[in-house]
Amino acid sequence: MSAAAVPPSVAAALALSGAEAEALHAAHVNSTFVKALGLLRFGRRFVRAEGERLWDDTGRAYWDFLAGYGATPLGHNPPAVRAAIEAVLGHAIPHFLLVSPQPLAAALAARLARICPGDLSVSYFASSGSEAVEGALKLARAATGRAGFVAATGGYHGTTFGALSVSDAGKGEAIFGPAVPGCRRVPWGDAGAIEEALRGGDVAAVLLEPLQGEGGVRLPPPGYLPDVARLCRQHGTLFILDEVQTGLGRTGRMFACEHESVEPDVLLLAKGLSGGLVPVSAYVTQRRIWEKAYGTLDRYDLHCTTFSGGPLACAAALATLDEIEGRRLPARAAEAGRALGARLAQVTDGHPLVQAVRGQGLLWGLEVRPAGGTAAALVGQWLAVALLERGVLTQVASNAPGVVRVQPPLTVSDTALDAFTQALGDALATQARGPTSALVQAVGRVVGATVAGWGAA
Ligand code: PMP
Repeated sequence: MSAAAVPPSVAAALALSGAEAEALHAAHVNSTFVKALGLLRFGRRFVRAEGERLWDDTGRAYWDFLAGYGATPLGHNPPAVRAAIEAVLGHAIPHFLLVSPQPLAAALAARLARICPGDLSVSYFASSGSEAVEGALKLARAATGRAGFVAATGGYHGTTFGALSVSDAGKGEAIFGPAVPGCRRVPWGDAGAIEEALRGGDVAAVLLEPLQGEGGVRLPPPGYLPDVARLCRQHGTLFILDEVQTGLGRTGRMFACEHESVEPDVLLLAKGLSGGLVPVSAYVTQRRIWEKAYGTLDRYDLHCTTFSGGPLACAAALATLDEIEGRRLPARAAEAGRALGARLAQVTDGHPLVQAVRGQGLLWGLEVRPAGGTAAALVGQWLAVALLERGVLTQVASNAPGVVRVQPPLTVSDTALDAFTQALGDALATQARGPTSALVQAVGRVVGATVAGWGAA
């Protein structure tokens, strides 16, 4: 194929300055988002990214400890994923031709069958995590003939109707309700509550994250996930594990369910599967479950989407898996995560605004004090801004704004870990004497702690 000239509209968009892009976004996408970034003092115009580094339009560099909320596990613009995408573009294969098996989708599904736990061997592809959740909920109803779903308090599964209905959606519940009928929530970590909910025999699936990410990086109590898996088997209910955030090495194993040798009936992937460049998500299930749901000529095409199995997405995912497996990134995440956890504990030890640090692999949360409520949200955001001002990008958990998530790419270097530790120590030690001291002092009074003196060197 001959190379075409860059279309003028794309060249012009790529040439927009940070300020121009911000103005267009405010005018035509989401003005309040832009306003909120300014109010939170989070407004930076990021214009370049490579590996674990980001640059704003003033040329300032940042360490990325957010990793696209998990979507850039290999860092930004990973060469292997770029090469895969370019290779596909170099072959003039059909894209989105849904009347013939797609080779890259088939190869990706076979690859997932090889790496997923147990008998998970059949994949359905989509573009977002929410769509993978929708697919899994429909699969569960179609396979079991039951309508109910059980999920956990604090859970986050996405923003489409089904995904929202099984999430702990906070203010979204009142705004978007009523939820999809049949969805129930039970306390996170309480297997007895799940047993109770399954007794009626009307539950199609239990849907959980193996470690709650957006809910504030909450680990399951030991034995909880194996207990839920057993209860689901006993009651003929499917066990769906949402590994959209935890899958593909993030927690130090290829899948978080492997920490306790749990084999779900359906496993959900998105975020990291894209390698940071092209959206792709999947549910992976057992052949017998898929056959029950869709294995007849009048049902095989009941759940589909135009972009399912797109070649660029699947090539990006295959290249990402090559990198994750070939470079043993789950083991690397485990090792780097131990170092990160130790540094977090050391640098936050005894600080009056730090309630807890917890995590697994390279998914950590730093919970501020007082836990919960508006004050926690303010302190959480204060800390994220203090880190940003010191050259480290983090953000708070979506459903727990008092928890700062620490989630670097799986490829994070020791230099980046050092820079993060230094920035966090400095933020905690000096911020109370800086411009936000009034806020910190006020919060400090609420928690009855003397903040100003902490860490003063
Ligand atoms: N499940 C989990 C566990 C998630 O963390 C997310 C996104 N934060 C989703 C589902 C939804 O994914 P998406 O935003 O791609 O729809």
